[in-house]
Amino acid sequence: MAREQDDILRRGIGMTSQRTRERLIQRLYEEGISNAKVLEVIRRTPRHLFVDEALAHRAYEDTALPIGNNQTISQPYMVARMSELLLEAGPLDKVMEIGTGSGYQTAVLSQLVERVFSVERIKVLQDRAKERLVELNLRNVVFRWGDGWEGWPALAPYNGIIVTAVATDVPQALLDQLAPGGRLVIPVGSGEVQQLMLIIREEQGFSRRVLGAVRFVPLLNGPLA
Ligand code: SAH
Repeated sequence: MAREQDDILRRGIGMTSQRTRERLIQRLYEEGISNAKVLEVIRRTPRHLFVDEALAHRAYEDTALPIGNNQTISQPYMVARMSELLLEAGPLDKVMEIGTGSGYQTAVLSQLVERVFSVERIKVLQDRAKERLVELNLRNVVFRWGDGWEGWPALAPYNGIIVTAVATDVPQALLDQLAPGGRLVIPVGSGEVQQLMLIIREEQGFSRRVLGAVRFVPLLNGPLA
């Protein structure tokens, strides 16, 4: 890692004690996150830089937190779990993310895969996320302001797609944009009834695995300035 990047990633340590951060990693491990690379990336990614300063002291709790515009930064366990599911069958080069939000999941992914293509419908959130990733010198990410229901067809196909908001149905466009063997991790449902799903494009058709109940904000329609 470049020294400059290393310095920035370490900068948070004074703010929120290293012990608090270690406790989070320990907790994720105890809750079943077993991918060592995922745990290591979460350990070194300064989550407090992705929330409002007033909430920075809670950044290493295993909980979702508000980021404005009625949205939340995902719970670290969920970020870890979804990343682990994406990577379960081996390394990935092209990954599309729907729902950039704070950019935290984006930052984690960008350290685990070759390239990230991240789509967000709310312009102000996207702009802030972009700035944070530049500041952290995470350069292998490109952003699109648009509607995640449509994915990002121009750059398809993707080896992995991760959706960080709950969809009422699996968007057809996302299935269409999966490469052969590609993996889609997506919460499906509405309100209180939501399931995390892993969908894989097989030689013929798709396989689906239901991974349990989750809680996400909804995948809405259309971009918002
Ligand atoms: N992974 C993000 C989670 C943000 S919450 C984080 O950890 O910060 C979900 C995000 O999905 C919100 O930013 C919301 O604006 C976005 N979103 C909702 N519907 C969308 C859509 N149709 N297209 C793109 N982004 C969408």
